[in-house]
Amino acid sequence: MKTYDYILIGSGPAAYKMSNLLANTKRDVLVIDGGEFGGTCPNYGCEPKIFLEGAARAVLQSQQLLGRGISQAATIDWSQLMQTKLDRFNPWPAQTREIIAKSHDVADGYAKFVDSQTIEVNGKQYTGDRIIIATGQHPNQLPVPGHEFTHTSTDVLSLTHLPQHVTFIGAGYVSMELATILGAAGADITIIDHSSRPLKAFPEDKANIVKQAMEDRGIEFMLNTTVKQIDRQDEGFIVETDHGEVPTDYVVNASGRRPNIDQLNLAAAKIETDRGGIVVDDHLQTTNPHVYAIGDVVSRPQPKLTPVAEFEGQYLFDYLEKGATSSVEYPVIATTAFTFPEIAEAGVRASDVVGKEGYTVKNLDLHYASLAAGQNDQSGKLTLVFHNEILVGANEVSDYAADDINNFLPVIGLKVTGKEYRRALIAIYPALADKVGGSL
Ligand SMILES: Cc1cc2nc3c(=O)[nH]c(=O)nc-3n(C[C@H](O)[C@H](O)[C@H](O)COP(=O)(O)OP(=O)(O)OC[C@H]3O[C@@H](n4cnc5c(N)ncnc54)[C@H](O)[C@@H]3O)c2cc1C
Repeated sequence: MKTYDYILIGSGPAAYKMSNLLANTKRDVLVIDGGEFGGTCPNYGCEPKIFLEGAARAVLQSQQLLGRGISQAATIDWSQLMQTKLDRFNPWPAQTREIIAKSHDVADGYAKFVDSQTIEVNGKQYTGDRIIIATGQHPNQLPVPGHEFTHTSTDVLSLTHLPQHVTFIGAGYVSMELATILGAAGADITIIDHSSRPLKAFPEDKANIVKQAMEDRGIEFMLNTTVKQIDRQDEGFIVETDHGEVPTDYVVNASGRRPNIDQLNLAAAKIETDRGGIVVDDHLQTTNPHVYAIGDVVSRPQPKLTPVAEFEGQYLFDYLEKGATSSVEYPVIATTAFTFPEIAEAGVRASDVVGKEGYTVKNLDLHYASLAAGQNDQSGKLTLVFHNEILVGANEVSDYAADDINNFLPVIGLKVTGKEYRRALIAIYPALADKVGGSL
């Protein structure tokens, strides 16, 4: 049985980051993946999604400009778009595996613990001085009859034929983004959620603007609604809810994601879990001192995102290999939904500082700017939260909210005052970031 300095279970953004960093050391490393090498983000998450969003945005922006100098809106040829997506992304897992295999041993298969330092893959056992679990998450299974007829975000991102009507169960960011893309491609959409509003991770006033824009495009929301059952018909399906039936051609279960822990036999290694995933201390160490966990599989309050997973990979490398001793401390994390318009947020939220001393809140309408007016983006609203003149939070809805909030992020993270910002730089004008200096 071979012993490694490190065994990485998973090869998504968290483990890939560590494997890249370990490639520059003399450490003996084994990387194991039972699915697509590279994990969720490049294969069935962020990257294919933003690729498809490019064409969706072109359609939606041209629709928005109808009668304002644009006489015909763009349309999507779904099979052509999907073919370009498949051509670009299909080779990636093999390429990622090849890159990892240049520096490390690689095993294809699902790993499980045999004891505190031993892993088994396809009947073969390996021991590791340090074992890093980075197995990510998978879509939640709906606890209703007919759940076997539902599809996941992974299926949608490789959908070769565009259904006429699509029902999304769940109104979180994954559902709202995919509904935006399929809606722009010409599908009729219904979004069902048991809560009273979509995008619960974002401020309500901004989320409602996104919802209204989607409704204006014909997307139907059934909120405060619970799915009871999904029935197969001769043609299509019926989604039965406590508020009536939805006939549909394709059902997407976007009701949430769960940590990939069931196959790992964690009990054999005395590794504790809770509902959120693997329990770690503030050095990302599990309850087994030889084992650490990073990325989406970890039980923690931070959003489950690629840059957060990579940050943890970097942190753990610095801690284990570079002598860094401090606890993991997360910087300000920006989040978004690539809907149309987009919604994005970073730092402190205005509703959390109501009545608190030292805080001020600024609300700005963005649609007056010629940049927004030229694109007929009427949605733009920006909220800035200051604490003693230092920007501590920002959230926005607009066609370019994600990039806009990224422009405010260094100001929040580096705690720059308006005076310092304006003294240090003059931004390109007119462009998205030109609003930063003037609004601080
Ligand atoms: C539709 C969608 C859109 C998203 N969009 C964004 C976005 O716009 N921006 C963003 O920042 N994030 C986005 N995310 C989230 C992002 O993809 C994840 O946060 C990120 O991939 C987490 O990385 P990870 O390394 O922790 O896990 P993953 O990328 O999930 O990788 C885990 C790997 O472990 C493997 N594995 C699992 N169990 C085992 C086992 N027992 N043995 C061996 N291998 C195993 C899996 O096959 C997988 O390859 C999106 C996710 C989805 C689903």
